[in-house]
Amino acid sequence: MNLDPTHQAAIKALRNWFLAEQRDLPWRVDRTPYAVWVSEVMLQQTQVAVVIPYFLRWMELFPSIKALAEAPIEDVIKAWEGLGYYSRARNLHAGARFIVEKYAGCFPDHPDSIRLIKGIGEYTANAIRSFAFHHPVMALDGNVMRVLARYFRIEEDIGKIKIIREMREKGNSLLPEQEPWVISEAVIELGATVCQRTPNCSICPLKTSCRGFLEGVADQLPVKARNVTTEKLYRAVVVLRAGECWLVRQCPQGEIMSGLHEFPYFETSQNGLSAGELGKQIADRFGLAVRWEKSLKPVAHSFTRFRVELKPQLFVIESRELPVIDEHHTWLTCEQLHERAFSSGHRRILQAIFESN
Ligand code: SF4
Repeated sequence: MNLDPTHQAAIKALRNWFLAEQRDLPWRVDRTPYAVWVSEVMLQQTQVAVVIPYFLRWMELFPSIKALAEAPIEDVIKAWEGLGYYSRARNLHAGARFIVEKYAGCFPDHPDSIRLIKGIGEYTANAIRSFAFHHPVMALDGNVMRVLARYFRIEEDIGKIKIIREMREKGNSLLPEQEPWVISEAVIELGATVCQRTPNCSICPLKTSCRGFLEGVADQLPVKARNVTTEKLYRAVVVLRAGECWLVRQCPQGEIMSGLHEFPYFETSQNGLSAGELGKQIADRFGLAVRWEKSLKPVAHSFTRFRVELKPQLFVIESRELPVIDEHHTWLTCEQLHERAFSSGHRRILQAIFESN
């Protein structure tokens, strides 16, 4: 570390603060590359409090890379149910299989090898290198970028490649030779708990040398370009019962919800479809004559950049035999429905059906 004494004192204060104040998190107990990998992937787009029980259960179900590689993908998706962004679970599974095949189940420590593992981007690779392998590298996530933009008073858009590169260099320059991983993680912790969107500078260990704070601009940083606009979707959902069974579709590979189950649905305009219109669509697509029973409560849910409004309607068919639709659609009993992994919006429809019965 080639820092002037003021910065050095601040980094020392940051280290002491972190060692005393860090949150007690289950993935900090045993910093294996596998535990770091799983926790960092779970923490993408998901809050810490939500991740904790998922992480604990995951480590019980799949305690090692080998155990994860050998597990059926259905079990992996089921263990992820409710966390969203299911490609993360599929990538973990594919990554585990790759590590078993290529590295005999031992997580590689070379950055080029780590980046070959499916779903591992720059941030996760650096987190694994830092926390598990103790390489002198800072993992740059949104929290860290916010801290660095304020600490160094960086006033350009932090989404620009040039600025990310600059922050990476500045971040790495803060790492001491002794135990650099402690500072790497301390900056993440500081961003998550003190240097939040509204910074709490009065209790911050970096306040003696943070330019953003000293020059009165901390709360105006970082500068970010506008977010990608969201898209609204409207779906008429068919909840179709035949005797004791319900029709569901398992989303095939290539779809965002791949591997998860959903009730069949039709994309509509904001006005949706009347019961009669939806009945006709069902006849056209599935060749089934159905009887409308009732409308169910609409459900709003979001994934990636989409905001979706699901408007479910309950239909029944009177048929002794369950009609065969295609390889993606299947009839499940109530018990089987509860064993399958559903996308979160359709899981809520499922809960509403059985709560109202
Ligand atoms: Fe963030 Fe304030 Fe600490 Fe600077 S002093 S790092 S702005 S909390």
